[in-house]
Amino acid sequence: MDEVLYGVLAENIGSYLDRVQRLAAHSEELRRLVAAWRALLDLHRPSGRRGRCEGCTRSHQRRTSMCDVWRVANAFFIHA
Ligand SMILES: [Zn+2]
Repeated sequence: MDEVLYGVLAENIGSYLDRVQRLAAHSEELRRLVAAWRALLDLHRPSGRRGRCEGCTRSHQRRTSMCDVWRVANAFFIHA
């Protein structure tokens, strides 16, 4: 995934998860869900010259393509 795209996406999704976490002050289930998403996104953080995430086994990703985990987070948390 492109570095600039990742930066924007990580900031927007991070802000969304921050908001949910504040709303989840009294909900153990919501806190757990937010923590799980943060861990999942961290495992799929793009790295290296080609911007592939280490969590994905797909080796044919184009440089600018977004990993499926980030694609789902973007679709549900940003463009919902
Ligand atoms: Zn991935």
